[in-house]
Amino acid sequence: VGLVSGGLDSLLALRIIRDLGVEVTAYRFVTPFFGWDLADGAPEMVRRYRQELGVALVVEPVWPEYLEVVRAPRYGYGKHLNPCLDCKLFMLRKAGEAMRRLGAAFVFTGEVLGQRPMSQRRDTMNLLERESGLRGRLVRPLSAQLFPPSLPEQEGILSREALHSFSGRSRTNQMELAARLGIRDYPTPAGGCRLTEEVYARRLGDLLRDGGAPRLGRVELLGTGRHLRLSPAATLVVGRNEAENLRIGERAGPADILLETPEVPGPTSLLCGDPSPEDIHLAARVTARYADAHGPVAVLVKGAGPGATRLLEGVIPLEGEACHGLLI
Ligand code: SF4
Repeated sequence: VGLVSGGLDSLLALRIIRDLGVEVTAYRFVTPFFGWDLADGAPEMVRRYRQELGVALVVEPVWPEYLEVVRAPRYGYGKHLNPCLDCKLFMLRKAGEAMRRLGAAFVFTGEVLGQRPMSQRRDTMNLLERESGLRGRLVRPLSAQLFPPSLPEQEGILSREALHSFSGRSRTNQMELAARLGIRDYPTPAGGCRLTEEVYARRLGDLLRDGGAPRLGRVELLGTGRHLRLSPAATLVVGRNEAENLRIGERAGPADILLETPEVPGPTSLLCGDPSPEDIHLAARVTARYADAHGPVAVLVKGAGPGATRLLEGVIPLEGEACHGLLI
């Protein structure tokens, strides 16, 4: 069972194992924080893995389960809200479950010793093997020769000579191996985890402080538009262009309020939480601020239930500085 991330290292690991004649099932776990564009099961990618690599790929959304990893990581966070050690442990445990379910012999990853400061040190890599319940059954083909022989090597399933001894941050070894294996199109390394982004992490942190389990649609909007905290009970998401306005409208929950400026071009805004009448008024003023107009505008407030939709006339846009002060 191979854990793949979409990056070069896991692809190389997969090629090494597959080229040894081992039947591989690759797993890609996705969450709204990474790989979520594949949450529909990625049939096109599954087809390419089967046709081009002869490998079965399983794309598995791990939401909302994964949220708990982010909310309370045992080993803490990296620079922002990225709980890398706990995240890897979570993935390895999932892969271990798949291994047992499939009757597979081992799990492998594209990890390289010393490549990342925290999660790929020797002690943390050993910890991951121990804590994941995969002792002896976790293989890192790119660095395997720098670790004691794994059980699949001892059992003769894998030839140690065919595995590698890459270490450190340099990518030269990986590039050379990719060239030798004829791999030309590969994504840039380590891209794509939004938990490592400062603004995104701040917004997520703000959302999680509200307690409870956030709605998926709300989480999916964390990377969209401007986010403003209007009061302890209310946040506002404001679209910056047509695509964002559409996305915001599609992800509104049944209890959310949508605001628009029907008489002039302007944003779609989503008011979430438990807003007071003052919050709704402030949301209307923020929406007016980002509309394409000078001076007061009409703002349509669309709430749930009868009588909850109304047009507010002559809303005075909130001043730029006040608006800026509310940004998350
Ligand atoms: S960067 Fe993101 S996806 Fe990668 S290990 Fe850290 S938390 Fe997990």
